[in-house]
Amino acid sequence: MGTPYAYFRRQFMPLSEAKIGIMTHALHYGTAVFEGIRGNWNEEERQIYLFRMPEHYRRLRQSCRIMMIDFPYTDEELHSITTRLVELSGFEEDVYVRPLAYKSSEALGVRLHNLEDDFLVFVTPFGPYLDLEKGARCCTSSWRRVEDTGIPARGKITGIYANSALAKTEANLSGFDEAIMLDERGHVSEGSGENVFIVMDGVLVTPPVSDNILVGITRNTVITLAKEELGIETVERPIDRSELYVADECFLTGTAAHLTPVVELDHRPIGDGKRGPITAKLQELYFQVIRGKHPKYAHWCTPCYSRVKA
Ligand code: PMP
Repeated sequence: MGTPYAYFRRQFMPLSEAKIGIMTHALHYGTAVFEGIRGNWNEEERQIYLFRMPEHYRRLRQSCRIMMIDFPYTDEELHSITTRLVELSGFEEDVYVRPLAYKSSEALGVRLHNLEDDFLVFVTPFGPYLDLEKGARCCTSSWRRVEDTGIPARGKITGIYANSALAKTEANLSGFDEAIMLDERGHVSEGSGENVFIVMDGVLVTPPVSDNILVGITRNTVITLAKEELGIETVERPIDRSELYVADECFLTGTAAHLTPVVELDHRPIGDGKRGPITAKLQELYFQVIRGKHPKYAHWCTPCYSRVKA
C-alpha cells in the first residue's frame, strides 16, 4: 500500500515522474549533499514518525555550507514539505526519506562556484538494513576513510560515498556483511554507513568527531539514551583496530543500520560472538524511542499522518 512520491522543482509528484537531465553537474562530479531520515511505522497509532528530522536538516545545512550549495528553505518549509510528502505517499510501513541538495546546472567543469543549486526529497519503503539480532560479521577495510583534508567526512557529500562503496563492496564480495574503515593514522573511523561503538568494562567508547566520521544522529541518540536511561557514560577517544578485537561488545549505529551488533571482526568473535547484553538493552530502548513509544523522547518524533486516530 502506498505510492512513492517526490518533492522536485518545488512540486509534489509521483517518484516515477521526477527526472533529471543527464548533464546534471552533481551526477558527474559528486557535488551534492544528502540526508537519510527514517519514518518509523507505529502500528497501534497507524502513524509514521519521522525520527529527529530537524537534526537531519541541520546537518544538511552544514553539508551545504561545506559544498557551497545555496539552500534557501526555512526549517518550517522543510518540515512541512517532508511530512506532506510522507502523507501523500500513504505507506503503512517503515519508510526512508532522502533529501538531496545538489549542483543542478547542466554544465561541464569541475568546480563549486557559478552553478545553480536545487533541492529534492523523495520517500520510499525501507526495512532493516543489517541483521539486528544475529548481528554483522565485519572486516577491517583495506580502504582508508577519506580525511578531512581530502573530502570532509562530517559533510554528507555524495562524492565521498565512492569511498564507502569501495569498502562495502570489498567486504560483501569477501563474504562479510560490513566494512569498518580506519583513517590514515590507523584509528578506527566508521563503517561504510555507520558509526562504531565498543563496550569496554561497562563503558561505551566511540571515535571522536575529529577521526573523520560523519557525526551521526543515531550516535548522539545512543550516547543520550545510554546516559539518561542506563547511566552508562560514553568516552569519545581514538580507538585502535585491535581494541575492537578485545572489546566486550561492539555495535554499529546509523539511520539505516539502526543499532546493529558486530559479532565478528576479521574472523575473530567479539565477546562471545553474539549480541551483547548492553547492546540488546540499548536496542530495545532505541526501538521504543524511534516508533514514538517512549513519552520522554516524543520530541524526537514528528508524526506525518494528520488523520484522526481510528
Ligand atoms: N557514517 C556514515 C558514513 C554514514 O553514511 C551514516 C549514515 N547517515 C552514519 C555514519 C550514521 O549517521 P546517522 O546516524 O546520522 O544516520
